[in-house]
Amino acid sequence: MTNAKYHIEKAKSGRATCKKCKLKIGKGEIRIGETRKGEDFDMVSWKHAKCFTMGRKLVASTSPPLTVEKFLEDVIGDPDNLLEDEDMFKTVLGDMLDAKSSGVGKRKRALVRDVTDGDTGIMDVAREIYAKLKKSQRIEPKKKRKKRNDDGEEEEDTSEDATEAIRNEVQSLSDSDRKIVEYFIFYNDMTSDELKSFLRWNFQMLSGTKDILVERCVDGEQNGRLGTCPTCEGGRIKLREGAEKVYCNGYYDEDVGSRISCFYEDDVVNAARELPWFMEEPSEEVIEAITTARKNPNLAKNESAVEESSSSFANLALDLKSKVGVKKAASQILEICRAKNVDLPDDEKKATVRIGRILVQNKSIISGKEIFKIIVSEFGLKQSKEEKFKAKKSAGEGCEVAENGPLFLAIKELSDLYFKERNTNAGNTYRRVSEAIRTLSFQVAADNAKGLCKGKTKVAGIGKGSADKMYEFVTCGTIDKLEEKRAAHQ
Ligand SMILES: [Zn+2]
Ligand SMILES: [Zn+2]
Repeated sequence: MTNAKYHIEKAKSGRATCKKCKLKIGKGEIRIGETRKGEDFDMVSWKHAKCFTMGRKLVASTSPPLTVEKFLEDVIGDPDNLLEDEDMFKTVLGDMLDAKSSGVGKRKRALVRDVTDGDTGIMDVAREIYAKLKKSQRIEPKKKRKKRNDDGEEEEDTSEDATEAIRNEVQSLSDSDRKIVEYFIFYNDMTSDELKSFLRWNFQMLSGTKDILVERCVDGEQNGRLGTCPTCEGGRIKLREGAEKVYCNGYYDEDVGSRISCFYEDDVVNAARELPWFMEEPSEEVIEAITTARKNPNLAKNESAVEESSSSFANLALDLKSKVGVKKAASQILEICRAKNVDLPDDEKKATVRIGRILVQNKSIISGKEIFKIIVSEFGLKQSKEEKFKAKKSAGEGCEVAENGPLFLAIKELSDLYFKERNTNAGNTYRRVSEAIRTLSFQVAADNAKGLCKGKTKVAGIGKGSADKMYEFVTCGTIDKLEEKRAAHQ
């Protein structure tokens, strides 16, 4: 055994910095502490669970070597019994395996695979060209020296041949592949710290080996910054090693107070992107604009709705001193809210009560426009029919089989509603099911739905309850549970 001790917990404050990625560990985020005995006191260093990889000594501390799963089951201290929760266990395990896969072990496997299936990605081509280029640059001066000694014209030719061959190889590539090679040469010449600066300026992950840092920079400059995950709408999309796939493993939701798992994975060409790729540190204003837009993608729309509403409020006198006055003000404001498409409950009475509550809570604010602003920020705006259609269409298209689109959306909505009521276990379960549906290669129908949870036709992530709900959806067009949750959240 090593002399270090490990334990896992939800961060009690937001003050600690992750020793791996150097970012702050937010309050409530899952972190792993490594405690080492010091002379006077014990030293604890913290890492995000997703940044934690087991050191060589730790792996070698048992025979057979310690696996991540065994580490979580037997070795790590868990004073709050976090890992008793099956979903939490799976999330942490997934995060740790991801962290591991960007390390050394995976690299070796990747090389073996390339040799066997001969399917080399453009990043590997770029890496090869880079190596050849550096080799020819190293050789050339030597050859020249040799030439002075014994006038060996032949050798001089070989080195020119080498550069010529590389040039030809680059020229034979498609325009976009050629760009990738150019970017690769540009970034691969940098140190890890320089690469991290680029990644920081572009809000990308900073952890991992130099190879993956280079790949992230090359991919980012070629395609734009990786954006927000389309599945959980909260996590950031990340690049897998090899730069052919992207994935998301979820995010910490401050409102729900827990980590939301996500199982999104897609080809790199389908990833959501943001432009531009910053080649220098963006200004504070730019950073602020990007972070606010990300937190609330509808902010700009909300702001313009508030501006447009100015005239409607011009002649509105709010009397909030009496109950009657509040009620009257609430129904007047409701009318404006309806006209402006604020996403309030459809039920008149419920909506009036909600507005009334906001009015009472903000008695000191007398401007109708300010009150409207608060209401819009709380409820948001309804999506227009066109927007809804577009969102649904793209979600359906996101499925491997487009016909599974409606089922995918129904299960995802169920998951969202569970998260809304802070039932993260159920939320995560259905999130996993919706992701499984998204990647299914056949259409779910009445005759195969129930088989998805058992036997040879079992699909990972789908249990009996979920299979029954999928059967219900494909036969009845909806799911009772979903209707029930929808009604409760009206
Ligand atoms: Zn970290
Ligand atoms: Zn996600």
